[in-house]
This record gives sequence, C-alpha cells and structure tokens, in this order.
Amino acid sequence: MLGPAAFTCGLLCGSFLNVCIYRLPKKASVISPPSHCPACGRRLRVAELVPVVSYLWQRGRCRSCGVAISLRYLLVEILTGFVFTALDWRFGWPAILWHAPFFATLIVIFFIDLDCQVIPNRLVLLLAALMPVRLLAGEVLFLQAAAGMLLGGGLFYMLAVLSRGGMGGGDVKLVTALGLWYGWKLLLPVIFLAFFCGGAVGLVLMALKVKKRKDAIPFGPYLVLAAFFVSMWGEQLVNWYLRISGLI
Ligand SMILES: [Zn+2]
Repeated sequence: MLGPAAFTCGLLCGSFLNVCIYRLPKKASVISPPSHCPACGRRLRVAELVPVVSYLWQRGRCRSCGVAISLRYLLVEILTGFVFTALDWRFGWPAILWHAPFFATLIVIFFIDLDCQVIPNRLVLLLAALMPVRLLAGEVLFLQAAAGMLLGGGLFYMLAVLSRGGMGGGDVKLVTALGLWYGWKLLLPVIFLAFFCGGAVGLVLMALKVKKRKDAIPFGPYLVLAAFFVSMWGEQLVNWYLRISGLI
C-alpha cells in the first residue's frame, strides 16, 4: 500500500487529466503550448500548477485577468486522488501501475463524453494498449479477454444498429476495450450496472424535465462508473448475485 503517495500521485495526475479533458476534443496537443489561462492566454507559473493548493490560494481565479476558473478543475484533481487511493487499497503494488493509468484514461473519457458526446479513439486505444500487462500479470486469461471483447463489441454493435445511433460508435469501441480488460465474466456486471445506473439517472432527468425521452444521453460516463465499481467490488457482486439466485 502506498497510502498518501497514491493520493498525491492522483492529484498531480488529475491536474494533467484536466489538460487532456480540455484539449483532446479540440484535437490540440496536450504537451504544447504549456498550460495557460484560457481567457487571457497568460502562461501559468510553476506555483500555479500545484494541484488544489493553487486553486484555493487564488480563490479560483486567474491571477492576471481575474476570470473565474471552473470548480471542475479542482474536482477532477481531488477525484483522481481518491480513485488512485481506492485502487491502491484494492490492488496494491505493483498492480496499481497498470490500474491507475487505466482509470486515469477512463476519467478523461468520462468528462469528454459528458461534455461533447464523443469518445476519442486514441483514448480507447490507450485502454487496449494497457491490456497486455494485465494478461502478463495473470489477472485475466487470454480466452476470457478475447470472449469479453467479442461479447461487448458484438452486443453494443447490435444495439448501435438497432437504436439507429442512440448508442454511438464511441460506446461500441469503449465496451470492446472494457471487454478485453475485464474478460466476459466481469464485463457482464459492467454492462448491467451501466444500464441500471443510466436508466435510473435517465428517469430522474426526465421526471425533472431536464431531458426529454428522445434527447441523446451519453452512455460512456455510466460505463466508466460501472467499470470502477466492478474493479473495486466485482467479485463480491458476482458472488452475491449467484447466492441470491440460488446458483451456488
Ligand atoms: Zn487569465
């Protein structure tokens, strides 16, 4: 267990994830130009790149033009800190080395899909590229992963065709990558939880009249939430399900 080190790494990583969330949909490089204020364009000093502290110190405003900086920057940093801490608690060293980048990528996907209803291909490719490490570490078997990929990709491809674009191509690719990562056995609860949670939120939004029935609601964020839940508690969930359904 890395404890506070995992949390600190998460904060620092979250700061970079903010840049990715902001720039990737615009097809801009995440490395250059260096971080700057989106309003006045002034380059940020090193002290202003310190996660959380700099935000609080500047009371959420740019130091030169005074424009308000979205509270979400702070939230993404803290969220990443907590996610890394949780993964450290669940998987420990050295498995955190591949679980942390996997979820860092999913956090970026979560926010980009929420904002722009797209899932950039290169992020999905990054998820798939991390997969062989999990295979080598013996966390998932090759046949299970291959079956997960085919199951997820096939099922969501069908849904995309049947729903005539209600389920987008980005979702199909994301589920395919998740299938590869989790294998078919744990992909099933990921899909189930994502639909359950998406349905529940959809009903609430419709009841509050925020969304109409036909409005497109991005599905990627639910897949990300479900994936996190399954990574943390998937085995308990499956065992619980098998027990209450009398299968074991
Ligand atoms: Zn500014």
